[in-house]
Amino acid sequence: MAEAHLVDNKTTFSSFSHLIDDRLLRALADSGFARPTLVQSKAIPLALENRDILARARTGSGKTAAYCIPLVQKILSAKSTVNLDDPTRQATRALILVPTRELAEQASEFLRNLLVYCDTEVAVSNVSSGTTTHLQRMLLADKPDIVIATPSRALALLQSKALSISSLDSLVIDEADLILSYGHDEDVRQIFKGSFLPQVYQSFLMSATMTEDVEMLKGLALRNPAILKLEEDED
Ligand code: ADP
Ligand code: MG
Repeated sequence: MAEAHLVDNKTTFSSFSHLIDDRLLRALADSGFARPTLVQSKAIPLALENRDILARARTGSGKTAAYCIPLVQKILSAKSTVNLDDPTRQATRALILVPTRELAEQASEFLRNLLVYCDTEVAVSNVSSGTTTHLQRMLLADKPDIVIATPSRALALLQSKALSISSLDSLVIDEADLILSYGHDEDVRQIFKGSFLPQVYQSFLMSATMTEDVEMLKGLALRNPAILKLEEDED
């Protein structure tokens, strides 16, 4: 990665060791993530204070880790403080919406690497491909903590009740500038309009550009967000 992407020469992921679980820090180091990018260094602490996040930073600036790290950290923290046998805790805690299957696979791979040292505690399902029947069975059986989906797939699974997001902690809309134009416009609206979501949850809107679509999604998904516009991150 180009030097300009990094926050500075001093800050490392270990600088966040008071905020981020040691197992995640080890996994990041294994993946060659020594120092956070600008968007990561700004988004992670704010997200861990439960702020909604609107991050506009160019492609390649590291937005995947900027939302995945706090989202996973919150799941780990919650698991360490509640009774794991409580059946109400066995529910999907995070939904990551992405415009395409390829992007779902990328987010899924990042999470797989991030979770190598705690994969028995946090389960991830990428439901963007595969048959609906297979997915319904899998979702009902595994009750993954994190679900990655395209909006159309997420809506179909919500409508068939295979997926429930009524106990959601975090909702991510990645590539927010593209997601509506990929034909997901009505599906995204339906996800917000239906009574699927709880009253309170944290939202992340990640985008390379600010467009009318992003403004619309901001109105739908965000409450009093921390707005990170990383102009200095542009060439
Ligand atoms: P964006 O979503 O903003 O386009 P990505 O999250 O896809 O960016 O990250 C772009 C690339 O940079 C990926 O290959 C990712 O593995 C790498 N990357 C992200 N953050 C870091 C980091 N802190 N250190 C090293 N590499 C990183
Ligand atoms: Mg991205």
